[in-house]
Amino acid sequence: MDPIHQLTDLFKKFPGIGPRQARRFVYYLLSADQSIVDQMSEKIKNLKQAIKQCSECQRYFNNSYNPKNNLCKICADNTRDKGSLLIIEKDIDLEVVEKSGSYKGYYFVLGGTVPILDPNPEVHIRFPLLLSKLENKIKEGLSEIIVALSVTTEGDHTAHWLATKLEPLALQAGIKISFPGRGLSTGSELEYADSETIKNALKNRQ
Ligand SMILES: [Zn+2]
Repeated sequence: MDPIHQLTDLFKKFPGIGPRQARRFVYYLLSADQSIVDQMSEKIKNLKQAIKQCSECQRYFNNSYNPKNNLCKICADNTRDKGSLLIIEKDIDLEVVEKSGSYKGYYFVLGGTVPILDPNPEVHIRFPLLLSKLENKIKEGLSEIIVALSVTTEGDHTAHWLATKLEPLALQAGIKISFPGRGLSTGSELEYADSETIKNALKNRQ
């Protein structure tokens, strides 16, 4: 296989990228300045070393902060509210909620949503890991789990699936499961919501 095909096949691995887009990326690189191509390949090569994954919330963070353990700054912060855990889909959702300044508890990044009618929901999200983290969090005084996923069909489906799965544990441990209130418009993803909307949605959670 020639290098164009080989690289196209690699780009096809990106989420949401089909063969035509992948091929367009390759032709872009062929026409781009050598310096751009060099920068890209260097950044990609070093990415995994420069970025760590938090062992608690699972988000990715810059390793230059150099923690003693594998905890991000939020999870390493003991002054946050241990009573509250916010479950979101992806890293960028965590960043927008954090930027809104309206939440002081801890987070868990689910890593995606569950497709409707999928026979194996658990392979799409970090559910088993969430369960194992909850055990410790309950001991540390967890009293509420807020499930804040996208207001899309798949997001709603995942939130419902998650709540059903967590219910027995929540009942047993006396934990409330809640959802952000209206305000986040239908079809919208958390990452596009502004700070005021997030603040209101969290305040009016139910
Ligand atoms: Zn963390």
